[in-house]
Formats: sequence, structure tokens, C-alpha cells
Amino acid sequence: MAEDAMVMGHWIANESVPASDGGVLKSLNPLDDSLYAEVADGTADDIDRAVREAHAAFLAYKETTTTEREAWLCKAAELLEQRKEEFIAILINEGGSTRRKAEFETNKSIGFIRAAVGIVRQVSGKTLPSDYPGRISMTWRAPRGVVAVITPFNVPLIKASRLCANALATGSTAVLLPSEEHPVLALKFAELLKDAGFPSNALNVVTGNGYKIGDCLTAHPLIKSVTFTGSTVVGKHIQQLCAINNKHVTLELGGKNPLVIMDDANLKDAVQGAVRGVFMHQGQACVSSSRVYVHEKVFPAFVEMYVKVVSNLGMGDLNDPDTIIGPVISERQRQRIKLHIEDAREKGASVATGGTWDGNRCAATVLLNVNAEMKAFREETFGPVVCVYIFSDFDEVMKEANDSNYGLSSAIYTSNIHRAMAYAKGIEAGMVHINSPSITDEAHVPFGGVGDSGFGREGTEADLEAFTELKWVTIQTD
Ligand code: NAD
Repeated sequence: MAEDAMVMGHWIANESVPASDGGVLKSLNPLDDSLYAEVADGTADDIDRAVREAHAAFLAYKETTTTEREAWLCKAAELLEQRKEEFIAILINEGGSTRRKAEFETNKSIGFIRAAVGIVRQVSGKTLPSDYPGRISMTWRAPRGVVAVITPFNVPLIKASRLCANALATGSTAVLLPSEEHPVLALKFAELLKDAGFPSNALNVVTGNGYKIGDCLTAHPLIKSVTFTGSTVVGKHIQQLCAINNKHVTLELGGKNPLVIMDDANLKDAVQGAVRGVFMHQGQACVSSSRVYVHEKVFPAFVEMYVKVVSNLGMGDLNDPDTIIGPVISERQRQRIKLHIEDAREKGASVATGGTWDGNRCAATVLLNVNAEMKAFREETFGPVVCVYIFSDFDEVMKEANDSNYGLSSAIYTSNIHRAMAYAKGIEAGMVHINSPSITDEAHVPFGGVGDSGFGREGTEADLEAFTELKWVTIQTD
């Protein structure tokens, strides 16, 4: 074991505790697969303990005042700002983030916690008219109870901060099950919330393998709402469990997001959008534009400009702000990316740039002549690989852009407002961006997708719904 590798337990009731059976999970540095940390390998008993603690906490926490919850959230944002470098280092060393992505994620997370402050006073209700004389009728909104927050490896701080902060803002408490690839980040975040003053047990973290212990969390009778971000296959499984157990569920799943470039687009902006929109975090983003459609009139010029920029994306030291491409998180993900590239090559696609590996890093890869027989055509590659297609008219590209089971984000570059609005109207996706990349997020927007990309939305307003319950109350006055 590397001398400086951390050893950490679960975070339950504001204490670091080992797994009930003493099991240990290794967290590796994706750059070279060296040991980064050893954490508790959670068991069903650990989940049960964490949920019971969160439930015990809820009974007191739901009575905390708006002023208290606002103060704790403000303090948490302030502490994250102060400890930014510590979190950036974890995102780089445990998650393989580049410095640029880690800085972006940390700053976003600070913003998300600040935005959660605004939820606190919206846990409210309204008065209603009534069919009955003398009746005062009203609604109350109340926190649901314990929320299960299940997060992926690629944006672990954004997801943990937004969802835990939003849940705690409403008066709910939470159990966080972070990705087995990025556990330390979640444990450090829980410590930060303790330092911000949140009561003991309000946020509990169980580390371990979701495939082993996730069902115990989702199906636990004391869990009232589940918010899951991850792959579509796991999301659909969780949705079934929630249906059987009658729980509220929000699913933020995968994407195969189209980016369309019309012949009247500003080509320089479109190239930039297709670089940032595809290769941020080496393509490991749910909203990455892994399909780019270019009008035939500008196709040759676009490909030339695009390949030139893409082939020069920095693959140096992760701490260097010029580095754009970092390592792929795990062997499982690397194998999928390799399979997609090889499969496309064998079936006749051409590799305009990339397709090569340097250790655990895959060079930014542009595939041309991709067809429906190839895996990269339909499946989420979740790596630095983009398929660039040519089209000749708007109706054709609209059809192609909608030819996917996914429907998360999408983008179009054009100077024709009518085309832009027709695209926004016609595209089957939860999010549409005109003249900017498909990768973007803000605290208060309804973030999420349709089809295999998810169920429900997240964001301050959507999470208020997800983490609270409405109650109808009447008073007969005469
Ligand atoms: P994953 O589905 O493998 O894992 C996500 C989380 O689910 C992990 O914490 C894992 O341990 C846990 N898990 C696994 N089985 C479980 C079960 N039965 N019950 C409960 N939890 C279980 O996904 P990943 O590889 O970590 O992340 C990549 C995927 O996430 C991609 O498909 C990506 O598009 C998606 N994603 C979506 C969004 C979004 O907002 N729509 C954001 C980021 C990532």
C-alpha cells in the first residue's frame, strides 16, 4: 500500500466507522491505478445503520428553523470555498479530473450549495378556496424524511453537493451512496457539512459497491425518496424497486446527445462548442455531444478546423490548466471505449484523429462514416469519442437527431432563429441549447431528460418537489 494512501471508514452519525464485516474497498488513482485510499466496503448492515441514524436525525432535524438551516448552508458554501484546493486535489487524484474540470466542478458546487439556501423558505403552502361554507382550506409542504442520494463517478461533487444541500434545505435528511470509484470525495464532503454545523446524523455516507448494497438502500422502509444519477440499466432497476415499494424517485441517466451545425452557423463558435461539448472530462459527461451533425455545405471546412483543434488537446500533467484529456476512470470504462473504437474501425468507420492510448488515457477521437451497425452509433461510449455525420437538410437531421432511445441534452448552431426554434420544438430531449454546447447546468433549472435519459428533473425547484410532501389541511370555522 502506498505510504500516503488514506484509510477511511463510512461516515455515520458524524463518526468514521469501519464496515460491519471489516471489509475494505480500494480506491485507485485512474492515472496509473496506484492505490489512492482504502475505504469501508459497505454491507447491508451498514446501510441499515446509516438509514436508521438518518431517520433518528430527521425527527429532530425537521423541527430546525429556517434561520438555522440557512446558516449551515451558508457556512458549508464558505468552507468549500476555503477548502477548494483540497477538493480539487481529490477530484484530480481519485477521479482523474483535469485541473480545469476540477476547478469548474468545485466552483459549481459552491454555487449549488448557495442556491439551496433559497429553498429553505420555499417549504411553504397556500390557502385554497373551498366548496364548503366556513371551511378554511390550505396546503402545507413538509420534508419527506430520509432521502437516498446515489451518485456517479464523473461529477461526484456536483451531485453530492446539489442533492444533499437541496435535501437538507427542505428539512429532510440523507444517506449518500457515492460511486465505488470516488468514495473519498463524498466522505470529505460529509466532514465539511459537520464542520459547517449541520446536526449529527443529518448526512450519512456509506461507501462500497452499489451493485452489492444499493438495493438495501433503495428498498429500505425508512427511505422516502430516491435520487439516482448513473447508468440507464441501473436506473431502470432502481425505478422498479421504487415502484414496488411506492417511493418517490428521480432518475438522471445516460445520454447520446446530438449537436447540429447548420450551414449558416458561426463555424468558429460551432467548433469551440463541439470541442468543449464533447471532450470535457474526456467525454465522461452525461450531457456530452457524442453525435455531431454537420451540414454538407460546411462539412469539409468544419472537419478540417475541428480535427486540427482536437488533435492538439493537451494530454500533459493533470494539474496543468492546458491539459484537457485526463485518464478514463476504470478498466471497465476503458474496455468499453476500446470496444467502440475497434468495432467502428472494423466495420468501416474512419478515424480522423485519435484512437490511440497513452496509459489509461485515450486520445480525443473523431470518427467519420459511422453507421447504424456500429456500437458507437447508438450506445453511450462515455469517453473522448465523437461521431461526426454529414447531412443535407433540416428535416433529415431532425429525424437523425431524434433516432435515439436517449433524450437528455442537445444543441444547435445556426443564425436562423426559425430553424433554431423549430429544432428546440422538435427535438426529443429534456434540454436544448442554441448556439452553445450541450454541456451546461445551473442550480435552478430543470435538469434532466426523457426516454432512457431519466425520469423527473433535478434543480432547486424540482428537488423541492422531490424531497417534500404536500398535505391538505382544513379548518371548519362555523
Ligand atoms: P453506474 O450506474 O455504474 O453507477 C452509479 C451509482 O450507482 C454508483 O454509485 C454505483 O455504485 C451505484 N449502483 C450500482 N448498482 C446499484 C443498485 N442496484 N442500486 C443502487 N445503486 C447502485 O454509473 P457510473 O458508471 O458511475 O456513471 C456513468 C453513468 O452516469 C453514465 O451513463 C452517465 O451518462 C450517467 N450520468 C448521468 C448524469 C445525469 O445527470 N443525467 C450525470 C452524470 C452521469
